[in-house]
Amino acid sequence: MPLRLILIGPPGVGKGTQAALIEQRTGAKPLSSGVIFRAEIDAETDLGQLAKRYIDHGELVPNGVTIQMMLKRIRSQEVRSHGFVLDGFPRTVRQAEALTEELENIQVTIDAVVSLEVPEDVIVDRLSGRMGCTKCGEIYHSTNKPPKREGICDKCNSPLFVREDDKPDTVRERLRVFRDNTKPVIDYYETLGRLRHIDADRPADQVYQDIVDGLV
Ligand SMILES: [Zn+2]
Repeated sequence: MPLRLILIGPPGVGKGTQAALIEQRTGAKPLSSGVIFRAEIDAETDLGQLAKRYIDHGELVPNGVTIQMMLKRIRSQEVRSHGFVLDGFPRTVRQAEALTEELENIQVTIDAVVSLEVPEDVIVDRLSGRMGCTKCGEIYHSTNKPPKREGICDKCNSPLFVREDDKPDTVRERLRVFRDNTKPVIDYYETLGRLRHIDADRPADQVYQDIVDGLV
């Protein structure tokens, strides 16, 4: 049976890693809204061109367009036969309701909605330790991949910098926005009895095992 999952979790929690592991081991296709947007835009489909107009103006792609793009992919033969791992969708209750309705229409059931959870301080550490080289673009991390000399690139001796997005205060703000936006979606699936909470502050293999064990 193809696996069908929804992964929910803040930036830095490891959703992409889990989606990749699940694809390797079960064949289920990762469906990330960002990747699907880009594919539709590159293929110059009607939906892609519509989305591009908003993105080019620095505006959010409207809910309706996002929903149509994601549902189109879910309906595709490839995804019907291999299953899917949704990442970054649904982001709002309206999207979640549209997804539920569509899945009912095509008689597909979700195996689980997985909430990946990591203490906020751990995520701030993971994300805010990143530094980039101003010249060659090499990426370092204060604990996982420190440069040999503090603040200096190993490859080209140029100074390292921290992106605005990766500063601790910005990371905390991004996490707060995620919590505010996602809480209603989590509540929605909790009410449907589909939600599973998984401790994601562990090695990726153990997290994966927890996700699939719960499905048997
Ligand atoms: Zn460099």
